[in-house]
Amino acid sequence: MLNEKERGQLKEVLEVEQARLLRNAQDGLAFSMNRERNIGRDSIDESMEEEIFSTELRLRDREKFLLNKIKGALDRLTEGTIDECESCAEKIGFKRLLARPVTTLCIECKEEAEKLEKAEDSQGRQGGLGIREDLDEPVAGGATEE
Ligand SMILES: [Zn+2]
Repeated sequence: MLNEKERGQLKEVLEVEQARLLRNAQDGLAFSMNRERNIGRDSIDESMEEEIFSTELRLRDREKFLLNKIKGALDRLTEGTIDECESCAEKIGFKRLLARPVTTLCIECKEEAEKLEKAEDSQGRQGGLGIREDLDEPVAGGATEE
């Protein structure tokens, strides 16, 4: 079990990240509303604009995904299960949790999962935005596009 101080630290990390993502999501919204007003103009290179817009959408999907993960982590923190690996039920180290508070896997299980993921990656999801960073990676899918 984590002690109170450790739980407090994790909560803070999660809440800071949550606030940051919410701000980003709002910026994204402002961007797409701005775009609505730009329809009909041809001053912006259209393909360029499409590209920016779809990047924006993908970022917002990613934010939604991460926000869900953060909410889940906060729930687990409240329940006192945040440091339990959901795969093998071993304890997840506090240092690992602090670095990746949304993780649900211990390092061994995570490495195992990453091996599988890399195998999947090479079959499709290439390129990307180069934004695989601190938090656990979104899995493609779930987002509906028209
Ligand atoms: Zn595990």
